[in-house]
Amino acid sequence: MNKKYVIITIAVIIVIIGIIVIGNLNKENVKENDNLKIVTSFYPMYIMTMNITNGVEDVQVSNMAENYVGCIHDYTLKTEDLKKFENANIFIENGYGMEAFSQKIIDSYPQVKIIESAKGITDVIKEESGDVNAHFWTSIDNYILQVQEIANQLSNIDSKNADTYKNNANIYIQKLNELKNSYEDKIESLKGKKVISLNESFSYLFKTLGIEEILIETDHEQSSLSAETVKNVIDKMNEENINSIIIAENDNEQNAKAIAEETGAKVYKLKDGMSGDNSLDSYINDMKYNFEIFD
Ligand SMILES: [Zn+2]
Repeated sequence: MNKKYVIITIAVIIVIIGIIVIGNLNKENVKENDNLKIVTSFYPMYIMTMNITNGVEDVQVSNMAENYVGCIHDYTLKTEDLKKFENANIFIENGYGMEAFSQKIIDSYPQVKIIESAKGITDVIKEESGDVNAHFWTSIDNYILQVQEIANQLSNIDSKNADTYKNNANIYIQKLNELKNSYEDKIESLKGKKVISLNESFSYLFKTLGIEEILIETDHEQSSLSAETVKNVIDKMNEENINSIIIAENDNEQNAKAIAEETGAKVYKLKDGMSGDNSLDSYINDMKYNFEIFD
């Protein structure tokens, strides 16, 4: 008799625990599903979005290419990247074809809404091939347009947080404008300076600074320059008295160094805003660095 009661009691306890556990799991699921899940393509988009969504509690932002320091324009999508879109609501990209894999995401997860941050940019630089150079964010003015576009589209999709998104964007844009204004004299002094650039990411930065760039297109593969190209660059620099060579911080510097040795030029390693410490001011600090590097 007693044994029977013990068994029944244990069974009842197990059932009760089971109900509680399942109930909590469901609750967690509901809570998870309430969150707006945003995936950004790469670092600049991540920093923009983190600033815009700052302090909004029911939004989760993750960066697809989080451990990648290079440019998204030569990124190969991995299976685990695609998995990140399983529960996502929004994908925020640079656009203009930079994320060549976007169609794969749309095909696999048609429920994901795409925000193309560069949609509103019309003043574009064309490369020799005729393609648009889509590294817009190195110009603060373009960067601001991209922040605005993300904030507007995000506000349309998630109207209950629209005021916060717009307010955050305004605060951020104000900081970006202050940054630009504080380097007004520096920008003025750089006007007309000629540089050789081995990295196409900086074309928009140079446009802002009034720097005349002779771009040697490398598609972010600085090591791929032929001996002939290197020789032509050296001749051009000697002819036109150019004494600055530009690469990005994470670029292969072998060719730049070789050219510098031949010409006595200085190699400047700029920050392209494509990697960093994930802090909200990451982009602002990178641009400060770029402004201050020139003498
Ligand atoms: Zn690129």
